[in-house]
Amino acid sequence: MTTVSEQTTHCPICARELTVRHIMSTNNFGGQDSDFRSRPIGYDPLHLAVSRCPDCGYADYSPYFSEPRPLSDALKARIRAELKPAGEHADHKISHIYAAIAQIGKIREASDEELANLYLSAAWCCADEDDVFGEIAYRKQAIRHFESALANGTIRTGNLAVIHYLIGELYRRIGDVENAHTWFNRALAMQPETGATPQFIEMTKRQRDNPSDSF
Ligand SMILES: [Zn+2]
Repeated sequence: MTTVSEQTTHCPICARELTVRHIMSTNNFGGQDSDFRSRPIGYDPLHLAVSRCPDCGYADYSPYFSEPRPLSDALKARIRAELKPAGEHADHKISHIYAAIAQIGKIREASDEELANLYLSAAWCCADEDDVFGEIAYRKQAIRHFESALANGTIRTGNLAVIHYLIGELYRRIGDVENAHTWFNRALAMQPETGATPQFIEMTKRQRDNPSDSF
């Protein structure tokens, strides 16, 4: 099962005292979706891994509230200026916290791969929140940043096939069959050193020809 501990710490941006939760253990006994979302038994760490300051709106993975990122004063000032204070009565949608982390990620010049994964997490949370439009919008953002990461050559060679596959899978899940097939076929044309193992090829062909939402 997923277990958490609570810690009282301070916001790295405005110094407000706040309590964050740290994930101590989790599991993936519930299997994995075909867009790589792990399914634990018990509480989902996706919902527990992030925190947001109720005063200034700073959001991040919880460990960065305990061990803050090395942000310059200038960056902190920019983050503070661009964030909307969340407020004690703001909505507590986890999807919005991931989106806020991505917004802050752009300010601290996070990689496109990191931003894509944050938007993918936001999309998964929207699915849990029955927010279909939000889910589609964040999947599109994830696609855009994965495509940028490929275009600027920042994806590790061994991950190239899986990122091509994932872009195809994200297009499939927003109902864009044409682009899904284009990207699945690109994944199928990848060389073995990019991660295109026989098992990967089989999985990609299945998602192209007879797709399923879980592995
Ligand atoms: Zn704060």
